[in-house]
Amino acid sequence: MEISIIVPVYNEQDNLPLLYDRLKAVVNKLGLTHEFVFINDGSKDQSLLVLHQLAAKDNCVKFIDFSRNFGHQIAVTAGLDKVDGDAVVIIDADLQDPPEAIIDLYNKMQDGFEVVYARRAKRAGESKLKLFTAKYFYRILSRITTIEIPVDTGDFRIIDRKVVNLLRRMPEQNKYLRGQIAWVGFNQTFITYERQERNAGNTGYTYRKMLKFALDGITSFSDLPLKIVTYFGFIVSGFAFVVMLYAMYSRFVLEDYEPGWTSLILTILFIGGIQMIAIGIIGEYLSRMNTNLRNRPLYIIRDSNIKKAESEQEN
Ligand code: UDP
Ligand code: MG
Repeated sequence: MEISIIVPVYNEQDNLPLLYDRLKAVVNKLGLTHEFVFINDGSKDQSLLVLHQLAAKDNCVKFIDFSRNFGHQIAVTAGLDKVDGDAVVIIDADLQDPPEAIIDLYNKMQDGFEVVYARRAKRAGESKLKLFTAKYFYRILSRITTIEIPVDTGDFRIIDRKVVNLLRRMPEQNKYLRGQIAWVGFNQTFITYERQERNAGNTGYTYRKMLKFALDGITSFSDLPLKIVTYFGFIVSGFAFVVMLYAMYSRFVLEDYEPGWTSLILTILFIGGIQMIAIGIIGEYLSRMNTNLRNRPLYIIRDSNIKKAESEQEN
C-alpha cells in the first residue's frame, strides 16, 4: 500500500459521497495503490450506511465503527492504529480540507520530509469567535511549550510510516496529535492552503469539546501553568510578609489600629480566588493522570471490515 487516507466521521452523511469521489480522483491522478480508512465516531445520522455502500462497491474503502462517540482525536488515532500505507494522510470529512491539496502534500514529501502539514492561509465560513480563540490559543500554546507546534494548522497532513509507528507507541488518553507529531521530530515542513467552508451539515466541535481539546494540548505539552501557580504563591506570600511587618509596626509603634473591614475582606477574597485557581490547575493535571492510570482502551470498535481491527480487540 502506497498511501492510506484516514477520515474521522461524525454526522457527515451528505459529505461522504462527494468526499469519496474527490479522494478517488486524487489517488488515481497520483497513480498510487491506496486505502481509505473511515472511522465512524458514533454518528447519529446515516453515515454508517453510506460507508457500507461505499465499501460494497470499492474494496479500497475500509471502515471502523465505534461503539459510541469517542471524539475526533481518538477517531484519528484508531485510523493510525490500523493503516497499512507507506504514507498516511489525515483529512476531515466535511471537505473543509480540499482533497486536491493531497497532491501537493504528497509531492512535497518526496523532497525528503517525514511530515508535511497543511497550514491555513485563509479560513472560510468560521465564526469570529472561533477564528479569534483559535488564533490566540495556538500562539499562546507555542510560546509555553518547549517543542515547536506549528500555528494555524489542523490535523490535515501527510506523515511517513515511521512517524505512524512512533505514534502507536504513545498511549496517552488525552490525545493532542499535532503536538505528538511535532514532538517526534524528523524533517517537517508545510504547504499553505485555503480552508474551505464546510460542504454540508454542522460542526461536530462544540465549544465544550474545543475547550477540552485546548486543555489537553496545554497539559500534554507544558508544565508552565503549574509553575506559574508556584511563582504566584511566592509572590503573594512575599507581599503578605511585608504587609505583616507594616501591620506590626502600626500596631506597636504608631499605635494606630483602626479596624479595616474593606482591606480585610478584599484580601481574603483575593487570596481565596488565587487558591481556587491554583487547585483547579492542579486538578486539570491530576484528572489527566488519573485517566491514564485507569488504563482503559482508547476506543471500542463495534464493527469493521478490517480483519485485524476486530480480532485485536478480542485479545
Ligand atoms: N469529528 C469526529 N468526532 C467528533 C467531532 C468531529 O470524528 O466528535 C470529525 C468530523 O466528522 C470531521 C472532523 O472530525 O471530519 C472535524 O470536525 P468538524 O468539521 O466538526 O470540526 P471543525 O472543522 O468545525 O473544527
Ligand atoms: Mg470542519
